Amino acid sequence: LADKVTGIVVHTANYGESDRMITIFSPDVGCVDAGIRFIRRPKSKLRAAGQLFCYGQFMLHRLGAGKYTLIQFELCDSFFDLATDLDAFSYAAFLCGICREAVQREEPAPGLFALLLHALTQMCYNKEVPPQDIGMATMLKMMDELGFMPQLTACSVCGKEVSGAAKFSARLGGVLCGNHADEDRQATDLSAGAASMMRLVLEAPMNKMAGLRLTPAIRQQWFAAIPGFVHWRMEKRFKSSRLLEIFHQING
Ligand SMILES: [Zn+2]
Repeated sequence: LADKVTGIVVHTANYGESDRMITIFSPDVGCVDAGIRFIRRPKSKLRAAGQLFCYGQFMLHRLGAGKYTLIQFELCDSFFDLATDLDAFSYAAFLCGICREAVQREEPAPGLFALLLHALTQMCYNKEVPPQDIGMATMLKMMDELGFMPQLTACSVCGKEVSGAAKFSARLGGVLCGNHADEDRQATDLSAGAASMMRLVLEAPMNKMAGLRLTPAIRQQWFAAIPGFVHWRMEKRFKSSRLLEIFHQING
C-alpha cells in the first residue's frame, strides 16, 4: 500500500543509528510523519527528502495506523539557500513550526500551505526584501488564517477605538488604549505607521509581499510585537511550547 503525498518537510528528527523521522506538511492531508531508513548513510538516495524545507513528492509505504516509511522521492525545490542565511533559516523554521503545531493529520490546510510555500520561495529567492520582513508578514497572515487576527484598531481589554501610537500586548492579543496601557508590563510600542502596515499586510493578497518595504523603525516594532503574539496565541490554543525553542532563536 503506497500513498503519494506532495508537501514540505516541516520537521526532522534523527533516530536509531542512521534513520530519520520527517514531518511532511501537505495541503491535502495535513501533517504526516514518515521514517526514512538509513538516510544518514553516505549513499542514501533519499537524502534530499530528509532536509528541513524540502518540497517535493513523497511516495510513502504504510506500515500501520499512522505509520509510514518513505520509499521514493521526487524533489521540486530544496530551498537550499535558506540554510546559508541564519535569519532566513530561523524565520523559515518558525513558520514550519506554526504549521506543524496547528495542522493535524488528515486535516487539509491549503491556505496555510500556500502561505508557507510562498514565504519559503520569497525568503530563498527574493533578495530585495529582508527575510525577517517576509517572515513576520507571513506570521501575521498565518495567524489570520488560523483565526487569530490581532486587535489593531480597538483596545484588546475594553474594545475602545485606538488611533495613533499605542502599546501592543502580545499576551492580550493587540493594541491597548491609554487606560489599559499598563495591563501588560511587557507591552511594546506600536506607532500608527507600524499598525497600518500590519493591516495592509493582512488585507493584501500574499503575492503583494514581494513588494513589502519596511522602515527600520517599523521593522523594529514588528519584531517586538509579532513573534511574541504568535507564540502567545499558539500556546493558548495548542497548549504546546515547542515553538518556544525556535522563538528564542529569532530573539537571539
Ligand atoms: Zn482599553
